Amino acid sequence: MNICVVGTGYVGLVTGAVFADLGNDVVCVDNDTVKISDLEAGRMPIYEPGLEEMVARNVADGRLTFTTDLTGTVRRSVIVFMTVGTPPKSDGQADLTAVEDVARGIAQAMERYTVVVNKSTVPVGTGDFVREVIERHQAAPVPFDVVSNPEFLREGSAIEDTLRPDRIVIGAPTQQVAMTLLELYAPLERPMIITDVPSAEMIKYASNAFLSTKISFINAIANICELAGADVTQVMKGMGLDPRIGSAFLSAGLGYGGSCFPKDTDSLVHTAATLGYDFALLRAVVDVNRDRAGHFVDLIVKALGPLDGRVIAVLGLAFKPNTDDMREAKSVEVVDRLLELGATVRVYDPVAMDHARKTLPDTVLYCESPYEAAGGADAVALVTEWNEFKFLNLERLRGVMRRPVVFDGRNLWEPERMRRLGFEYYSIGRKPVLPS
Ligand code: NAD
Repeated sequence: MNICVVGTGYVGLVTGAVFADLGNDVVCVDNDTVKISDLEAGRMPIYEPGLEEMVARNVADGRLTFTTDLTGTVRRSVIVFMTVGTPPKSDGQADLTAVEDVARGIAQAMERYTVVVNKSTVPVGTGDFVREVIERHQAAPVPFDVVSNPEFLREGSAIEDTLRPDRIVIGAPTQQVAMTLLELYAPLERPMIITDVPSAEMIKYASNAFLSTKISFINAIANICELAGADVTQVMKGMGLDPRIGSAFLSAGLGYGGSCFPKDTDSLVHTAATLGYDFALLRAVVDVNRDRAGHFVDLIVKALGPLDGRVIAVLGLAFKPNTDDMREAKSVEVVDRLLELGATVRVYDPVAMDHARKTLPDTVLYCESPYEAAGGADAVALVTEWNEFKFLNLERLRGVMRRPVVFDGRNLWEPERMRRLGFEYYSIGRKPVLPS
């Protein structure tokens, strides 16, 4: 099948590569000329395990190409996927400028029946909006349909998630249109939900809002555990074994970040309000999450005293492990706050350092290893739970630090082990390990 994917970012590039791998003829379009020439030269604009190999294989086999030419690509395609960004506006609503631009471009290019599939995360009702934009900008009426096919991939396991999704949601105006997408996805042999367009759009937001709620719920419980002397990791285990609850997304820590949960929760609160419903529950979820970085820095200040002149090593910068994505990363809030309080901040991340250089203030010091970052430091603050950190040589780490104080924002290490190793250790929702 001839497929066009517009917006060659995390979602578009992975989607394009996987569809090509399934034997389709895929052209990925982007209006970022640097990104397209990088891809044409075989350079990946993002880090994603397995992506480079998959892209290279399909480019070599001639099934995957890259271009800035939207018009030509739309004309040769049966299905056009929209995978452009939908960033938040200052009031929380999703900015649909890129979706509208692409819809206009598709309208002007279209010469025969085309299925326009929206894969970006967009508020309920956007399907109608896209239909209206296309109708308005067509030079002559050409039939088309608009489908919602929300994406559930997770950065860090995007290829695996796209090849083996839990479910494929297809919101289509008719069964016949849904069949086109069914045919495309059939080789994956995964569960499919065929529904109407607004319900498909809502499934995506409801899913992200629910997962965010689980995270904020356990973080609120962690706050109570800290006050009551209980251990949130035990509480989480005891809750998670109930199959009605489940342990996924029930780990206390610094809260959710990244390019999806923060903006999607804000957007759903906004959409609900526009429709006349005050989503107070979700507003509380957002509030709990907003307090996490401040709570962590308060913990540091309480333990160390004034930070003026202190050296803090921040381990982990990406918003979560296995990605280089710094969007809405908790590290940004933590580092900003530590600098504001006068600390010297040294940082290390296994893959996000290049992106971090564009995001963090210039005064941050970048280090080649966790041990270099911790060298002479008054404390280590663990922000992203990379596997590499789980298996650190903690004795070596303690040996290079000025003071063996660790703040663990993700409950990566065991308090008992940290005690044995001679650390003063603070984590989330658990009793601290104090110097004896
Ligand atoms: P991204 O920023 O990585 O990629 C978007 C791409 O679209 C960029 O390369 C940008 O240059 C391009 N673009 C913007 N305007 C364009 C235009 N007018 N014409 C052509 N290209 C244009 O974004 P992403 O993370 O891939 O997210 C895309 C959408 O998918 C968002 O709605 C997001 O919420 C959703 N989503 C993201 C993830 C994720 O983990 N990143 C997961 C599920 C859903």
